Amino acid sequence: MLSSMKVTKTFIPTLREVPADAVIVSHRLMFRSGMLRKLANGLFAYLPLGLRAFRKVETIIREEMDATGSLEIKPTVVVPAELWKESGRWEAMGEAMLRVKNRLGADFVVSPTAEEAVTSLVRDELSSYRQLPLSIYQINTKYRDEIRPRYGVMRGREFVMKDAYSYHTDEASLDETYKAMGRAYRRIFQRCGLSVIPVRADSGAMGGSDSEEFMVESEIGDNTLILCKDCAYAANVEKAGCKPDFTAPSSLEASMPALEKIDTPQVKTIDELCAFLKTDAKRFIKTLIYRAINVELDLSAAPGGSQLAKRKPAPEAPEVYPEAFFAVAIRGDLEVNEIKLAALLKASEVALAADSDVVRLTNAPVGFAGPVGLSGIPIIVDETVTAMNDGVTGALAQDLHYAHVVYGRDFQSWMVADVRTVKAGDRCALCGGELYEKKGNELGHIFKLGYKYTRSMNVSYLDENGKSHLPLMGTYGIGLDRTLASVIEEHHDDDGIIWPLTIAPYHVIIIPIKYEGAVQALADELAAALEKTGVEVLLDDRNERPGVKFKDADLIGIPYRVVVGDKNLALEVPKVEVKRRGEKESHLVEAAKAAEELRGLVQGELEEMASQ
Ligand code: ATP
Ligand code: MG
Repeated sequence: MLSSMKVTKTFIPTLREVPADAVIVSHRLMFRSGMLRKLANGLFAYLPLGLRAFRKVETIIREEMDATGSLEIKPTVVVPAELWKESGRWEAMGEAMLRVKNRLGADFVVSPTAEEAVTSLVRDELSSYRQLPLSIYQINTKYRDEIRPRYGVMRGREFVMKDAYSYHTDEASLDETYKAMGRAYRRIFQRCGLSVIPVRADSGAMGGSDSEEFMVESEIGDNTLILCKDCAYAANVEKAGCKPDFTAPSSLEASMPALEKIDTPQVKTIDELCAFLKTDAKRFIKTLIYRAINVELDLSAAPGGSQLAKRKPAPEAPEVYPEAFFAVAIRGDLEVNEIKLAALLKASEVALAADSDVVRLTNAPVGFAGPVGLSGIPIIVDETVTAMNDGVTGALAQDLHYAHVVYGRDFQSWMVADVRTVKAGDRCALCGGELYEKKGNELGHIFKLGYKYTRSMNVSYLDENGKSHLPLMGTYGIGLDRTLASVIEEHHDDDGIIWPLTIAPYHVIIIPIKYEGAVQALADELAAALEKTGVEVLLDDRNERPGVKFKDADLIGIPYRVVVGDKNLALEVPKVEVKRRGEKESHLVEAAKAAEELRGLVQGELEEMASQ
C-alpha cells in the first residue's frame, strides 16, 4: 500500500445520496464514502479506499494469528465435491452451498467454510504424533448462498473469512489452542477498536465452554444475547440456560385431585383456554410434535424406535435415523428452544412437524395434542413440567382437554430435559442474578469440534507405541467484511465515519484551501515528510471549494485533518490547522513542526491501541 496519495490520482467516488437499500449506518457510509459498490445482491466490490481499510483488518488478524503459532496457507476456494461427500455435508449443507460442475461434469463446491479441504490436506501429511499439535489458517474468499443477503457486507454472499483449524493428540492440547485463539480474538477486536461481547455457546450449567462467539451489540443483530446483571454470564439465547424457577415435588401427594376430562368447545389457543378456564398459561402443559432429521441418539428403546429406518451418511460416520418424530411437553408460558432440542437429540435439524404428521401421530386434530395417552412416539418432558401437579393439557380429541394432570401419575416421559428458551427476567444459572437481553451480531466463533471431521474423513496418526489414533480438532472463524462494517457501526457521527487509527485507510488528510502557490508547496512538503516517517497521508489536491473538501474528509473519516491556507501561512510564524476527526476544536501548529507533531500524535495513538 502506498503511504501517500493525491485525491485526484485515486478513485474515491463519494456520494451525497444514500442508496435506497442501505438501511444501516455502515452500509450507507461504505457506499457514500466510496469504499464499496454493489455488483448484485450480496456481491460487493471494494474500491481503493475500502480495500485499504479492509487490509488493515486483515493485517491485524494475520499478526495475531501468527502470534498464536498458527500457520498461514492458501488452499483453493473451489473444492472437489468428494471431500464434502466424505464428511456428509454435501447433503447436510443444503442450498447455502454453491455447487458447480466442470466441463467433464464433475461436481465442485465453492467453499462456504473449509473443514473438509484443510482436513484432507492434514490427512495426507499426518503420520506421527510428533507433528501435533498443528494449527493452520487461511484468509480467503467464502461463498454462501444466503437466502436474504442484507445490510451490505454484514451479510453478503461472497465474503472473506479468516478460518483456522487445529489438530491435537489430546483434550489438554486442544484446550490450550482453543484458549490461545480466544485470547487472540480478544486482541484482534480490541485492536480494531471494537467492543465485543464474548458469549458462551453452551448452557452455562457446567463449568467449561466448548464454544464461544464474539458478538457486537447491534440493533439489527441476528442473535439474541442473554446476559446477567450481576455476573459475567453471557450466552447466545440459542444455548442459554437459566436457574430453574420451579421445585419438583419429591413425591406424588394423595390429596391431588384425580384426572378429569373437560369439554372445551371452540377453544383452540392457549389464550382462549386460559380465558375459558380462568387460569394462566403456567398451568398449561403445552405439547408440540417435532420432526428431527439425522438423529444420532440411540432410539432403539424409545417408543416406536425399533421401527425407525437407519443409515450411515458417510463410511466412518455414526449411524443416524434420517427422520424421527418427538413430542415435547413444556409449561404453557415457555417456548421450546429448537437448538437445545437438536443438541439433545444429536440431530442435524429439528422443526415443528407438518399438520398432517401431527394428526397422524396424535390421532387428533391439530391443537389437541397432550401427553396423556399419547403412544408410539417418544415424549420429551421439559423439566418445568415435572413440577406441575395440577396441569391442563389437550386430550387427543376435538374440543376436549384434561384437567388436574400430574406428571408421573397420568403420563410418563421418555426423557426429562431442559429445552426451554431463556428470556429476560429469568434467573442466572451461575449466580441467581436477573438475566436481560441484547441484540448482537456475530463477528467470530471458536469451537471445539472433537472427532467429527477426523472420524468421518478418516484422519489418523501413530502414537509413540505405533498405535493409530484419531486426532481431536478445533475450528476458529472471523468474518473480515462484517468486522470492518462493525467498526463503522461503532465509530461514526452524522457527518460520516470516525475511523480508529488502526483501521483508517489513511492516518492524515491534508486539505489545501486552494492547491496553488505557497499553499501547494507546503502541502506537498508536508505530505512527503509524513510519508517518510511512515504516516499514511491523503492529499486533497482537487480544485473544489473548501466546504466540499471538508465534507468529504468528514465522510471518509480520516483521523487527522490538516488544513493549509494562505492566512495561516502568512502569520509571522507560518502555521497550519490540525483537527482530530470527531473532535470540535482544531489547533494551530507551526508549519515547520507539523510533520513531527503529526507523527507523534499518530504513533502515540497507534501504540496506545496496541498496548491496551
Ligand atoms: P451467521 O449466523 O451470522 O450466519 P455463522 O454462524 O453462519 O454466522 P460461521 O459459520 O461461524 O458463521 O462463520 C464465521 C464468521 O464468518 C462469522 O462469525 C461471520 O463473521 C462471518 N460470516 C458468516 N456468514 C457471513 C456472511 N453471509 N456475510 C459476511 N460474513 C459472514
Ligand atoms: Mg450463517
